[in-house]
Amino acid sequence: MQVIETIAAIKEARRRLAAPVGLVPTMGYLHQGHLNLVKEARTHNAAVVVSIFVNPTQFGPQEDLSQYPRSVPCDLTQLKNERTDIVFLPPVAEMYPPGFNSWVDVEGVTEFLEGAARPSHFRGVATVVNKLFNIIQPDSAYFGQKDAQQVVVIKKMVTDLNMNLEIVTVATTREPDGLAMSSRNVYLSPDERRAAPVLFRSLQRARQLYLEGNRDGASMLREMTALLGHEPLATVDYISIANAVTLEEMTAVAAPALVSLAVRFGKTRLIDNIILE
Ligand code: AMP
Repeated sequence: MQVIETIAAIKEARRRLAAPVGLVPTMGYLHQGHLNLVKEARTHNAAVVVSIFVNPTQFGPQEDLSQYPRSVPCDLTQLKNERTDIVFLPPVAEMYPPGFNSWVDVEGVTEFLEGAARPSHFRGVATVVNKLFNIIQPDSAYFGQKDAQQVVVIKKMVTDLNMNLEIVTVATTREPDGLAMSSRNVYLSPDERRAAPVLFRSLQRARQLYLEGNRDGASMLREMTALLGHEPLATVDYISIANAVTLEEMTAVAAPALVSLAVRFGKTRLIDNIILE
């Protein structure tokens, strides 16, 4: 496994990789959810590149950039075990040198949900992902359903800007109690960690109502809100039932629907979602 820090060196190494090449972009502090993306990439590609880059441009001024958890040595051990070919680990100045001034703005689907709660977040995501695609030139790139809107935004960018790669979505990996794995789970206190599976329970409640024939978005959201209300440590940021393609809110629920939510436990903000097919 090669660990490469500069754009010039990874472009050089890329020329020697067998095709097809799969890319897994991450911000590090890897858990089983990330590793399942790498496994999926490993199954379908001759070479696998994983990037680890805590991208400053996708964090808002009040967000957790400086405290974002990092553990590069542990990440590298895990990636080696997954038979990763190259880890791309650029310093910030390599990705954003002085004078950097170009941005990718995907309009429409970024107005809702995380885009509404975190202005300029997706501009940072789309820009860094576009840069990684240009630098590494993968045949496919792997993203987690855990960040549902991110997948929608990246797919829209790839379509609108005629990029030559396939975007593969990988199912959300969960803890045994249903909590979606996330690097940010480490911030939770023991009590908050015990309370956090309420996110998945409320999503399952929506699925149950849908399977029982309920198509009334407002009543489904009410039931989810009531369930979350029983957990005193949880403060709801938003709950949404939206068209899974356009991300517009739906009053009459029709498949495919994205049921998603953001909930705060103290200072920690967690997101999760399911799709109603
Ligand atoms: P991050 O390091 O949080 O930027 O995540 C890197 C990639 O891993 C993104 O495509 C995420 O959607 C994906 N990911 C993070 N957590 C999970 C999870 N629990 N299950 C599946 N994919 C995940």
